[in-house]
Amino acid sequence: MGGLGSILAAEKQPNDMKRDYYETLGISKTVGDEEIRSAYRKLAMKYHPDKHQGEKQAEEKFKEISEAYEVLSDENKKATYDRFGHEGLKGAFGAGGFQWQNFTHAEDISDLFGGIADALGGFGFDELFGFGNTRRRQGRGPRRGQDIEHEITVKFEEAALGMDKTVEIKRYDNCSSCKGTGASLGTKDTVCQHCHGRGQVSVTSGFFSIARTCPSCGGSGRVIKDPCKDCQGTGRERVKKKIKIKIPAGMDNGMRLRVTQEGDAGDKGGPRGDLYVAVHVEKHPFFKRHDNDIYGEIKISFTQAIFGSSIQVPTLEGKTYMKIPAGTPSGKVFKLDGKGTPAIMSGGAHGDEYIKVTVDVPKRLSAEQERILKEFANTLDEKPVKKPKGIMDKVKKAFR
Ligand SMILES: [Zn+2]
Ligand SMILES: [Zn+2]
Repeated sequence: MGGLGSILAAEKQPNDMKRDYYETLGISKTVGDEEIRSAYRKLAMKYHPDKHQGEKQAEEKFKEISEAYEVLSDENKKATYDRFGHEGLKGAFGAGGFQWQNFTHAEDISDLFGGIADALGGFGFDELFGFGNTRRRQGRGPRRGQDIEHEITVKFEEAALGMDKTVEIKRYDNCSSCKGTGASLGTKDTVCQHCHGRGQVSVTSGFFSIARTCPSCGGSGRVIKDPCKDCQGTGRERVKKKIKIKIPAGMDNGMRLRVTQEGDAGDKGGPRGDLYVAVHVEKHPFFKRHDNDIYGEIKISFTQAIFGSSIQVPTLEGKTYMKIPAGTPSGKVFKLDGKGTPAIMSGGAHGDEYIKVTVDVPKRLSAEQERILKEFANTLDEKPVKKPKGIMDKVKKAFR
């Protein structure tokens, strides 16, 4: 489109000589969005490039109405234009004035161009106008390899404390026979004769010239005459590979690790894709985890609760002692500062450990224990309850 731009720049009239945008579209200043659009569509159809192949005037006209539409369909630009005229829009489209790159309403008339696009093998409207330059280009040159997904299951502590792990993955590497060239040993790929190594060929229709991926070489610009037998010229082979990964401390169930450049090998010397490792964390027999905090529950005897005690509790780094003060009620939660997992996310806080103690009520007492406890109960002025033997038997019967 560079050539087209320079031609128009040379022929461009000074701003004050420019035609009024409303006049260009043949509408009055008071019409609404829908009328503006329909007026533009009608004119776009009239100056359709299909009907005026190679006619410079039609091409210019088509661009002129498109510029008018670009301005009048944009609320802000229209307001500026209504107040200050062409002078107000100086600089709105850059130094060279309106270019096709400035046209943002391709979709409004894209259906008018279906015929051309089809004729050229399914090109989108974007490509007709040269908008596609930055969005396409799949086939050309080196391509980055695919990313790979892998899943692993780790122990609770491994995730919490972090560790090195080796995973075995399947991925594409460069073929070891041809070192990824795809050409059999001792031969080389050659420049594609069809596109002369450009990877693209031009297709012309009317005043549009479109670059498309070369069908002969797939866009690489090179062809392999004598393909490698081991990889059939693909340059790649599927291999099993052991990869060392580092599980950072604080990893949680469902998180993913990204290991850069350990995915599939790239094409034509392109970089490797990445390896993504989804981490599943096994359940822990004692701990539950919530964010970076860990939770556990421990039983103490009722005398420990009454008199206080020092009890052993598990932590991620082994057992430690925790003080139970005298008179601890069942269900009380104790916090062990900093005994949770490290924060894996930046800005997160290191977790804590929470231990809930429940008082274990003994189900069977020795005669001696019973006697002492009854004595204790008497001091509370409680009437010891007789064992409801008969009632229990009846209940048991009912459940049989
Ligand atoms: Zn090979
Ligand atoms: Zn080619």
